[in-house]
Amino acid sequence: MKRERHGNKNKNLAFSLKSLSTGRNAPLIFFLILLALYFLASLVTSGVARSSEVIFVLGAPIPVTTLTGVFSALSNICVILMVLFYGQLGFLTALALLLIQFPAMLMNIFLRHAYSSIPGIFTSLLTIFAMILLYLNNRKLEEYQIRIRDQAVLDHLTGLPNSFACTEMMEDLIRREEPFVVTLVNLNNFKSINDTYGHHTGNEVLKEIAARWNNAVEEGTSGTMDFVTRQAGDEFAIIIRQADSDEKVLHTIRHYEAILQEKIIVEEYDCYVNASFGYAFYPGDAQSVDQLLSYADAAMHKVKRANSSNRIIHFTRDMLETEHVLEMELKIREALEKDLLCYYLQPQYDINRKLRGFEALARMKSEDGKMISPGEFIPVAERVGLIDKVDGHVFQKAAQFFGELIRDTGTDAMLSVNVSVRHLMKNDFLEEVKSVLEISGIPAGQLEIEITESIMIDSAEKALKVIEALKDMGIKIAIDDFGTGYSSLSYLNNFPANLLKVDKSFVDRMNASDSSKQYVAAIISMGHVMNFDVIAEGVEEPDQLDTLRRIGCDYVQGFIWGKPMPPEQAGDLVRRGA
Ligand code: C2E
Ligand code: MG
Ligand code: MG
Repeated sequence: MKRERHGNKNKNLAFSLKSLSTGRNAPLIFFLILLALYFLASLVTSGVARSSEVIFVLGAPIPVTTLTGVFSALSNICVILMVLFYGQLGFLTALALLLIQFPAMLMNIFLRHAYSSIPGIFTSLLTIFAMILLYLNNRKLEEYQIRIRDQAVLDHLTGLPNSFACTEMMEDLIRREEPFVVTLVNLNNFKSINDTYGHHTGNEVLKEIAARWNNAVEEGTSGTMDFVTRQAGDEFAIIIRQADSDEKVLHTIRHYEAILQEKIIVEEYDCYVNASFGYAFYPGDAQSVDQLLSYADAAMHKVKRANSSNRIIHFTRDMLETEHVLEMELKIREALEKDLLCYYLQPQYDINRKLRGFEALARMKSEDGKMISPGEFIPVAERVGLIDKVDGHVFQKAAQFFGELIRDTGTDAMLSVNVSVRHLMKNDFLEEVKSVLEISGIPAGQLEIEITESIMIDSAEKALKVIEALKDMGIKIAIDDFGTGYSSLSYLNNFPANLLKVDKSFVDRMNASDSSKQYVAAIISMGHVMNFDVIAEGVEEPDQLDTLRRIGCDYVQGFIWGKPMPPEQAGDLVRRGA
């Protein structure tokens, strides 16, 4: 393996270029077919040239000798195709085949005085001339192609293969089902080198690191077969092949780490650099390029955060969750800062389709304009302690809009907002609600706060006090996603709510069996006994609506009558009196 590397000066690059080859050379089998066809055509040519027979085509007599031209053209086409599709190999073979004929033809002319060979000599010479032109032209095209390919796969600053080459290489190995390891490397504190010595010096440091690593690849000093790329900025990737155990991988990575840690002298400055390494195995950890890179990235970031002396980590599943949470937390913070958090309003109707009100549902735009669903970011906001900010944001904005709508239209519709348990339990929650009511001007009776059933289990005492206080202010209370938790009936009996929201999962199943229908009917009856109104969530089908009507459900919220919509659209709905 080592010998193989020494033999090829720029192995790191050569491999990437090879794997990116345009596939100009056709399969060898066609080459052999062309060769066979050539010999056959040549054989037939010399056979028919000597024949004195006549064949009849459509009744016309044709001397067999006249077919010489046809078969010699066929053999010439074979050699031209060889040059066209098989580069140097095709050219040299074709040249040899044509030149071999010359002694025989010259002998025929000068010794046997067979002058009929003279046109053959000219044809061969012309074919050789055409072949040379074709070959030279092809070479030029190939050089252009290689130059373009180089530009596409090379990093301009360091001369290393770039991230595109890295992806191509990984795809190539995956296609061949060859096991490998991808390691992502991020230099530690590289920013401080840039800040202290300037960008020019920073670039020189990157170049030096790249040169050292490239050298290691070419010399094969790590003991494995590697491929190093610069991904972007101060990030590199090392693809390690032929390393089937953690020890071998660690040995290789430590080798690159040691090379990196040697003093770098750039423009009279002494720099010391170290890095964080995270790696993932193909096929053990993941089977796609994207996943492998993101797993290696998760591991590498874990190293960065841990800031411990061990700077090399293998990816493990538990990193994904933290990684996802951290990423989402960042997005939420960004959204709060840049005002990317907004809300939609979903209408609620009574069973005769008279508007009851709207539920405000959070929406978050990511910076690239995509909408992230609350199912994704609300649980993270809860975990990282940002839920009060998110809830508060939606609450204030929706209340502001709704207050204006009430003043504008005199509507008596309700505004429902979701409040998470954590938010509700904050000491200043009641103050916050009062201030929102004051600023927005919404009458307390037109505001409804949705809390989930879990509040009864998690934080009963304190929560109950807050809820009582809200009720005293005249605010309505709804129990969201009812049926999904496990609140006891006795508790529900004393609970100061106004509305039960039957979870969509029950509505979905309701018409599948009689017992499911009876279950929903029982929730509704029980709600009524306890003096709650009942609303069914997620109603999509007319037959669900029929059933709900029959079993006495009071209200409906679902796509069948209205999807969550931008506030302006909800405003139009109110103005139309829908
Ligand atoms: P939720 O409070 O139970 O809200 C109802 C969810 O069901 C909404 O999903 C709504 O779009 C969806 N939905 C309503 N009707 C239908 C239907 O007919 N078919 C289907 N397939 N879906 C329907 P969304 O907007 O994705 O919200 C998901 C959950 O996120 C909410 O469930 C709520 O628990 C939470 N959430 C949303 N906004 C906020 C917020 O501002 N604060 C807090 N704490 N939680 C929020
Ligand atoms: Mg809700
Ligand atoms: Mg719900």
